[in-house]
Amino acid sequence: VPRMSKGLPIKQRIPNVKRIVLVSSAKGGVGKSTVSVNLALGLSKLGKKAGVLDVDLFGPSIPKLFNLSGEPRISDNGKLLPLSNYGVETMSMGYLIAPENPVVWRGLMVMKALQQLLFEVAWSPLDYLVIDMPPGTGDTQLTISQQLKVNGAVIVSTPQDIALIDAVKGISMFNKVHIPILGLVQNMSYFVCPNCHHESHIFGSDGAKREAEKYGLQVLGSIPLNEQICLQSDKGKPIVVADPQSPLADSYIEVARKN
Ligand code: ADP
Repeated sequence: VPRMSKGLPIKQRIPNVKRIVLVSSAKGGVGKSTVSVNLALGLSKLGKKAGVLDVDLFGPSIPKLFNLSGEPRISDNGKLLPLSNYGVETMSMGYLIAPENPVVWRGLMVMKALQQLLFEVAWSPLDYLVIDMPPGTGDTQLTISQQLKVNGAVIVSTPQDIALIDAVKGISMFNKVHIPILGLVQNMSYFVCPNCHHESHIFGSDGAKREAEKYGLQVLGSIPLNEQICLQSDKGKPIVVADPQSPLADSYIEVARKN
């Protein structure tokens, strides 16, 4: 149960965590989890201690992206111990529920699980905790923005117009709850032909960039549409660890550098 003051929850820190960064998108499938994971791995590559918290209770993707599974162990004082791979600590609803069990929970149980993921994890001392948010602006987003002392939010968007409109909705939500927006990551923004290296801006060029400027937001990076990103993620070895010297990895590490 959150501590309250004057009818409003008090914003809390997560024990052992210095900076909390939310990675958010207004709709699913735009590459938010891929950005979350490669951002955390990029931070780790830059010498920071990083963790990822997956609060997408209904579609957790962090276990698969980190090639991790199994139930977390419980610490002596009853907290969940994170699972680690590639030097990054992770916690996800996916570890607590078997993948074959669909989550058909009532709101109260969902909120209880969320409280546990937010405040009952025994993180090692972390420089950064990247929180992979569910898409949209629902209850989980509201709870997190009201209860957590967040340093900033990164918004992921593809260049298509619909995604842009939704991304803008997300922006106004964060403004309302006084969470600084660190900037926008434009994902799947162009395609580089593997044969002739021509850059195709298949969804039109720089729509997200223009939109970002309109709202005074920084563009933290543009990630190309590339099958390696998808293939390596499917293998549980995201591109920043699979091919750390590649320009693709660089496009994510660049985002990490700006955090
Ligand atoms: P979200 O978290 O927004 O639902 P995901 O990160 O799960 O999106 O990505 C959705 C799908 O798109 C995944 O299969 C992922 O591997 C793929 N994907 C994400 N970013 C890229 C990219 N830049 N190029 C190619 N495939 C990508």
